[in-house]
Amino acid sequence: MESRIPISLPILIPRPEHNISRASISANAVKVLYRLHDAGHRACLVGGGVRDLLLGREPKDFDIATDARPEQVHKLFRNCRLIGRRFRLAHVRFGQEIVEVATFRAHSEEGESSGVERAADGRILSDNVYGNIEEDAWRRDFTINALYYDIANFAVLDYVGGMADLEAGLIRLIGDPAQRYHEDPVRMLRAVRFVAKLGLRLDPATEAPLHRLGHLLEQIPPARLFDEILKLFMSGCAIQTFELLRHYRLFGWLFPATERCLSRQQQHYPKTLLVRALANTDQRLTEDRPVNPAFLFAALLWEPLREQARRLQADGVDEYAALQEAADVVIREQSQRVVLPRRYSLPMREIWELQPRLTQITGKRPLRLATQPRFRAAYDFLMLRADADEQAAELADWWTRFLGMNEAERIQATQPVTRAQAKKGKPRRRRKSRSTRQDQSAPPPGPDV
Ligand code: ATP
Ligand code: MG
Repeated sequence: MESRIPISLPILIPRPEHNISRASISANAVKVLYRLHDAGHRACLVGGGVRDLLLGREPKDFDIATDARPEQVHKLFRNCRLIGRRFRLAHVRFGQEIVEVATFRAHSEEGESSGVERAADGRILSDNVYGNIEEDAWRRDFTINALYYDIANFAVLDYVGGMADLEAGLIRLIGDPAQRYHEDPVRMLRAVRFVAKLGLRLDPATEAPLHRLGHLLEQIPPARLFDEILKLFMSGCAIQTFELLRHYRLFGWLFPATERCLSRQQQHYPKTLLVRALANTDQRLTEDRPVNPAFLFAALLWEPLREQARRLQADGVDEYAALQEAADVVIREQSQRVVLPRRYSLPMREIWELQPRLTQITGKRPLRLATQPRFRAAYDFLMLRADADEQAAELADWWTRFLGMNEAERIQATQPVTRAQAKKGKPRRRRKSRSTRQDQSAPPPGPDV
């Protein structure tokens, strides 16, 4: 099913007919564009930067395409590093900001000497065949990602019909969609990400193969998938992304154990917790508050962890050891698909391991626990669990009240109950509604991991 591009191409949209001004491009990217241009090279802004500016959105980063070879780019900038194997790129660094400069490349057919290296399944392993700007446009993924803003004349260049698609709100793969997904299955995840993030629709031909090609994700190195997953869930539309991944049957190839739990779904439990965690992430990103992926992964893998731990406990392993062992198993299985760097898997484990410890609410333990560096994240996680779990809800109430107390009150609240008091009957705490459960004096919940 070839995507049809109905207009005659290429199109040059002169400066007065589009909304991209130099003022809306980062000063550093403009600097790089001019340095390349002044050295006699072709230099264009391309990809998400152009797309987002045309949509009136603020771009996340600015990518530059040029006819200068990576070594030539390297010579022009002192603050430049060459990176990448699959694609050789130049990174020009300005403090925190990195401007990526890529040499125009062609989407050439494979062959020993072509510079394209393919796996037996058609995936492109390395792709360093240089080409002209038009060839560069055709090897990009979606038409809306293949628009160029040329610093020589401030015009937008469109070789693939991206402008018309942008105006129609369509995400369309360039070329034959199934073939383009086979070449690089990550394009499936990118399609989902752009739908969620940009609020555009998938062109029917681009959408059709998605449902049946999820298995291709198995071939992607788990470390690359981790990068993509971060982008998927950290772009402020995690809930919609999650729903789309499940809709296109891609989610299970990323989180197989979670998918198994979701498809069995008892009492909507795993979904409730997950959806709350995703909503929490979106909310925090909207408010410009920090989000730690460890918290989100803790939620994504919580139900597989619980199932595994329950199995071990049924075999006689004690609660804490079962949790530890289950964490090993779950992390091991998950890492076969999506590698979780230790800087995330360690805090994730700590959040999990603190959950049973949060049930110890008498004596000195709660006082000590509340000073632990990971306590805040563990408490926030308990709040997530509270929505679907009566016991967790009571516990969350207790901790919320506790956090609102001064030191003397805290000591009072953690006195063990005496026999006599217990005989009289412990005063039962009624579960409050969600809105009242969050104590005013307690800090707002959120993954401050
Ligand atoms: P974002 O807003 O997330 O940065 P982006 O489109 O700029 O979106 P990048 O990963 O920065 O995404 O990639 C820059 C450009 O490189 C894309 O717009 C696209 O033209 C091209 N590109 C990226 N990944 C692929 C891919 N897997 N296949 C083909 N082209 C790609
Ligand atoms: Mg980009």
